[in-house]
Parts: sequence; C-alpha cells; structure tokens
Amino acid sequence: MRFARLAAPGTIRLEERPAPVAGPGEITVDLAACGVCGTDLEKLRGNYRTAGVIGHEPAGRVATVGDGVDRLAVGDRVFVHHHVPCYACEVCARGDYTFCPTYSRTNLDPGGFADTFRVPVENVSRGAVLRLDPSVDWATGALIEPAGCALTALRRVHLPERASVFVLGLGPVGLLYARLARSLGAAWVGGTEISPLRREAAERGGIDVTVDPRTPGAAKAAIDRATEGRGVDLAVVATGHPAVVREATGLVRRAGTVNLFGLPDAGSRLDADLQELYLRGVRLIPSYATTEPDLAEVHRLVVEGRLTLKDLVSHEIPLGSIDEAFRLAGRPSEAVKVVVTGPAAGTG
Ligand SMILES: [Zn+2]
Ligand SMILES: [Zn+2]
Repeated sequence: MRFARLAAPGTIRLEERPAPVAGPGEITVDLAACGVCGTDLEKLRGNYRTAGVIGHEPAGRVATVGDGVDRLAVGDRVFVHHHVPCYACEVCARGDYTFCPTYSRTNLDPGGFADTFRVPVENVSRGAVLRLDPSVDWATGALIEPAGCALTALRRVHLPERASVFVLGLGPVGLLYARLARSLGAAWVGGTEISPLRREAAERGGIDVTVDPRTPGAAKAAIDRATEGRGVDLAVVATGHPAVVREATGLVRRAGTVNLFGLPDAGSRLDADLQELYLRGVRLIPSYATTEPDLAEVHRLVVEGRLTLKDLVSHEIPLGSIDEAFRLAGRPSEAVKVVVTGPAAGTG
C-alpha cells in the first residue's frame, strides 16, 4: 500500500510498504479522507517538536478488526482520533485530558495519509473511534478533529453568554472556531484574515465582520464599533505569531480572555506590558488538541444541522498527489481546507 512520509525538511514522499495488520484489540481502516492540518505543514517545514507522524484528521471505513474488538465491525464508517488520554492520572482526573502526560504517546500507524492505517489498542479501547452518522459525508468527517480542537478551546475559556468573539487568523481552524462560537450562542463574531477567499468563507458562515490585518487599526475599530469601545470578551489567536498574541491582549475587554490557539514557533517570546495585563485582568489561556467527548459533541452538532463544515473544504486531492495537497494547503490565497482522499472515498 501507499503512505506519505516526511523524507527531509520540505520533502514529502509517497512510499510503498505492506498494509498494517490489526493485533488483538486493534483495527485497521481504509482511508476515505484526511485533512491537511497546519501542524502537518509545520512538520514539513521541520518546525514542530512532536513525532514525525503526519495526517491526524482521518475518516474511513473499517477494513479489519483484531481479536477482542466487539464494538466495531468491518465496513463501519468511522472518524479516528490519533491521540488518547490515559483517564487514570491526576491530570485526567482534573478533566485536562489533552495535557495528560501520555496523551500523545499513541498514534496511527503509519499516519492518516496512507491507503490503510492501524489504530492502536489504546485508541480503540478508550473510545477514539467514532462511528459516523450516515448523513455525515467523508469531507465533513475529516473536519471533526479540527472542529473538536475549537470546541475544547471554547470549553477551556468558559465563553460567557451572548459573548463577543474576535478570531485573529481565519485559516481553516480559525474559521471552524468562529463558526462554532456562533453556533454556541456568541452574539458577535469577527476576525482578521489576509486571504479574500477565506474572508468570504467566514462571511458565508455568518461571521459578522472580517477585516484585513494589514489595514492598521481596522481590527480595533471594528471591535470598538461592536462593543461600544469596551473590547471583546474573547480574542482567539489562531496563528502562531507572538506579535498577534500581543495585539490580541489589546483587543479584549477588562478581564477578557486571550486564547492561545495556534501553534507558536518553538522558542518564540511574548513581549507584552505585564503590568498592563495585570491591571486589566487579561487572562491568557492556551488550548491544545481535543478530547473524545468534544469530538462526539461536534459530530452531534453536525448531525443536528447546527454546524456546517463541508463548504470549508475547498480541495479534495487523491493520496497519489499528496505533494500538491500540501502545496495548496500552504497557499491561503488559493485554498481554505485541503483534504486528501484515499481508496474508501468512492464508497459513499
Ligand atoms: Zn489538526
Ligand atoms: Zn492521564
């Protein structure tokens, strides 16, 4: 079978290997669709500290089940989450599952960009395989993980009722975040984005205002108009840029929240006036990854028609052209969300 591998920084290569075999308690899945994530692009650039496995947003059809798996059957349409917490440590006991020390220890083999991948026993037994409702198409299935990350973030920041929310960087996850905030009851949602294509996707999803971040003062002016000069309840930094974090601290109201949602570069520093943050009571809350309950909740919102994801997929590229998929995903002016399709894609 074919699978994609990072051969060297900047080089992604399709290689052949024997199809993985499901051991006891494991399953294998034939790929239908797997989103290209910003972190995959960072890994390609050689910029991300975690393991080199790529592709973690896969939906597909169960190909084989190992001994002892009774909850899943061959042919099931599923979304698979690549990481799982232990549910046994002190961090998990506090509900901070994505910060469990063993959270990222398991992963798909060899990753989501493969004709077939193996799901480890930990993921299968701890509920990381979600059966898709027949109404959920493959492309939507591939957006469940990034949408789950946005939902987990929204839980961590405790969004107030009728909140005002501003998303800095309306890339694929920023767009998902903005839509989710809206569907969870935010009264006003705005955001910044350079790419007109992505601003248009935001406006289509009911976002109130989008501005080009290159226009000085435009974000502040839009927020001042919407909040009578108070600032927003929540500013979401959906890029990794430290200067954007600092900008966000100036856009929130007194005692407002800045959510660090995008992945910053290793070693990047925040240069902010700490006394100002202290006196204004600005809360800085990072959020990383997502949990099984939040993935199930995203799936439910989609099934109930309260969250639309599919139109964010601008390109579906076959696994055989993965380099083209990565090229497009790195071009905000050409693409919103890029999804890589596999052999199960044609099976509806
Ligand atoms: Zn992702
Ligand atoms: Zn744990």
